[in-house]
Amino acid sequence: MVFGTNSNMIRQSPNLRLLFRASLSKVGARSLTAEASSVLRESEPMLRNEEYADIDWNNLGFGLTKTDYMYKAKCSHDATFQQGELSDYGNIELSPAAGVLNYGQGLFEGTKAFRGENGKIFLFRPDQNAIRMQIGAERMCMRSPSVQQFVDAVKQTALANKRWIPPPGKGSLYIRPLLIGTGPILGLSPSPEYTFLVYASPVGNYFKAGMAPLNLYVEDEFHRATRGGAGGVKSISNYAPVLQAISRAKGRGFSDVLYLDSVHKKYIEEASSCNIFVVKGNVISTPATMGTILEGITRKSIIDIARDLGYKVEERFVEVDELMEADEVFTTGTAVTVATVGSITYKGQRLEYKISDGLVSQKLYKMLQGIQLGKIEDKYDWVVEID
Ligand SMILES: *Cc1c(COP(=O)(O)O)cnc(C)c1O
Repeated sequence: MVFGTNSNMIRQSPNLRLLFRASLSKVGARSLTAEASSVLRESEPMLRNEEYADIDWNNLGFGLTKTDYMYKAKCSHDATFQQGELSDYGNIELSPAAGVLNYGQGLFEGTKAFRGENGKIFLFRPDQNAIRMQIGAERMCMRSPSVQQFVDAVKQTALANKRWIPPPGKGSLYIRPLLIGTGPILGLSPSPEYTFLVYASPVGNYFKAGMAPLNLYVEDEFHRATRGGAGGVKSISNYAPVLQAISRAKGRGFSDVLYLDSVHKKYIEEASSCNIFVVKGNVISTPATMGTILEGITRKSIIDIARDLGYKVEERFVEVDELMEADEVFTTGTAVTVATVGSITYKGQRLEYKISDGLVSQKLYKMLQGIQLGKIEDKYDWVVEID
């Protein structure tokens, strides 16, 4: 019912806003929630309904849903990032000469907050996203926030938007950290100022067909990355160039594109936003990351889980021809988690994979999801409980 009104009330009350921010930064959001809601309850009983935003939690896709708050911090080229703060979610102002607009100096990250059945809120390996952003920033000549600031910003954004974290089993809050060159620059050189921004959106399944097996199209005309390029980092400049391949594949009924190496056009690399694994017997193979493949955190986690479950995992060159003999193929990524591949089309030939009970991909998916939701013991120390 009136959830929108409630958040407007928080917005309209400067004192509450201050309390909200102060509690977030000083004592953590647990006390924020308790404190803020007890204050609110005295004046406005409706706010007890703030636990969940008023949206249809049963039909979440991977679209953008605006949430209440975002986090922002700035830094000049030769300094460290200043302390960031939360503000209302909304448009940002940029110089027309901003580095990100003119020369694509920007990085993104993607991580998720989950609501466990016990009501607890979890993050999954946010430090890994922080480290990856630092590595990317170095590649793109940008300043980057410290690991601690990054993780703290993700936490603050998740908790400030807590009512947008879907109920258990309905999805997750996708958190999108961005690092962009916002300073004006005309000649081709690094931006004089950077902005670190974090926003969030509740999401369900990444692919339209939900959990249905993916139909991949092997692309041999367009490439995602080249040796010496920036395919190994989450630079925003890597994504617009593959939109054409993706829309062409989608127009032909495929779910996503599988890219080949640009030198030999013979080794598989990854899909547009997820890594790929090939299963044959007890061996699971995935292309080694050597600068042209994004080192997924899900990829890394699945490798560990699979090894602990007794599979032999190989990181190596994987030839496109090996797809023909594979028992199973699946992709991994924060957005997709673990997605089973139902078919792969290469040079006009369509390979179909048997989808049966007891797939390796499903076993790995259940383990990973169980850990992320706090249902399976996290012996890896990957999960961060934030509320
Ligand atoms: C983000 C991304 C992945 C997956 O990485 P995760 O850390 O698992 O989310 C894989 N490939 C590409 C190209 C990506 O952008």
